[in-house]
Amino acid sequence: MDLVIKNGNVVDFRARNMMQKNVGIKDQKIYLITDRDISGKKVIDANGKVVSPGFIDIHNHTDYNFKIGNKDPFETAKHMLIMGVTTSVGGNCGGGIVDIERYANLIKKQGAPNNYMGLIGHIELRNAVGNTDVYKTSTKLQIEKMKELLKKGLEKGAVGISFGLEYSPGATYEEVLEFCKVVKDYPNALGSVHFRYDGGRAIRGVNEIISLARDSGAYMQISHLNSGVCYGFTDEALKMIDNARGQGINVMADAYPYNAFSTDAGSPVFNDGCLENWNVGYDSILIATGEHVGKRCDKELFECVRENSPLTSFVAFVMNEEEVDKVLTYPNIIIASDGNINGGQGHPRAAGTFPRALHRYAAGKEEKDWIYILEKMTRLPAERLGLSSKGELVEGADADIVIFDQEKIKDNSTFEKPSLLPSGICYVLLNGEIAVKDNVIIKNDLGEFIERAEQ
Ligand SMILES: [Zn+2]
Repeated sequence: MDLVIKNGNVVDFRARNMMQKNVGIKDQKIYLITDRDISGKKVIDANGKVVSPGFIDIHNHTDYNFKIGNKDPFETAKHMLIMGVTTSVGGNCGGGIVDIERYANLIKKQGAPNNYMGLIGHIELRNAVGNTDVYKTSTKLQIEKMKELLKKGLEKGAVGISFGLEYSPGATYEEVLEFCKVVKDYPNALGSVHFRYDGGRAIRGVNEIISLARDSGAYMQISHLNSGVCYGFTDEALKMIDNARGQGINVMADAYPYNAFSTDAGSPVFNDGCLENWNVGYDSILIATGEHVGKRCDKELFECVRENSPLTSFVAFVMNEEEVDKVLTYPNIIIASDGNINGGQGHPRAAGTFPRALHRYAAGKEEKDWIYILEKMTRLPAERLGLSSKGELVEGADADIVIFDQEKIKDNSTFEKPSLLPSGICYVLLNGEIAVKDNVIIKNDLGEFIERAEQ
């Protein structure tokens, strides 16, 4: 064997337990999982630790650093890797790079911290065909041109399209449906949607996405459901999704374990009426970047930042925490980070989501609870993405593995210090090699560009 992980408690979703076993890795794959003693060129002693499939983050913005020309194009990806993310789906909320080949080529040339899958962003498609006004509808000709660009991206391996409907109010239902119909013709392609409405209008927002799935037949993914519905509408929204799925409509949702969201101050999300819609005051808005970093808003500061530095990040503490917990622990909801960090600034989810979810929802509980939460960040997203060799520790699977300490695992990143590293992640292995040991990146070029699965 190239590497052996000895005596760890190996997560088994089929038997639904974690038994002490040895894992043998050869040629980047899991070669053997056994009770027998096996020898390898390298050995990791995992006694007392959990050996889990690497976390698969179906919703984040790891391509954003590259898109905006950050001096480290993989700043977010490195944080993801340290918290156990071995495969990441970037380009969400309408913002994914249109020319995905350019990013794929960078990864093919120099590797990436984790395996990358990318969505083409609808708002970026609009920009590419000259509709740069998010309040404007697209012309028929523009829609046709966007469809061609989308098809090209899907053929280059993109995993689908992402929409940011709240950020592009001018995009009509008919416009969006056209792209969902394109996606439907490509196996395993997703339509990932940041809803048009949240807060008091949450149900309308969820309804639109279910309708898109029904009318197009495409796989639709409701992005960060928590920030859409956790304002008193959680039970109703979960029931709507269950009912739709019960009727054979292919819609699922993901969520992050925080009760605050974060986005640009200048975004339409913060237009007039937003605070009433969330039923909060100005002091629920924290300024997360720029010259007023760390301050809570009042009316004057809120308006001043929006007017003068619209690219400043606002963090909005607007969701009901018990509802967030309900969404995260509800069956079939995938745990995802929505992470994005630039120059160490942003939302703590980029450095903390997965350790936080395990600490918050599994720590101190039974083995079955650990299996249940881990499945939401491994097997479930792998299945959604058609990644048949990831998401489970079985012989023949890709050796993307996280070894962690159940007693110690937790997030440390906060809204004040969003890039603090987590506790309890002992090792992260990518393609059979050690990428991270005790929060130190050993190798940050093991990740590959993964094309949308064709089967
Ligand atoms: Zn979003």
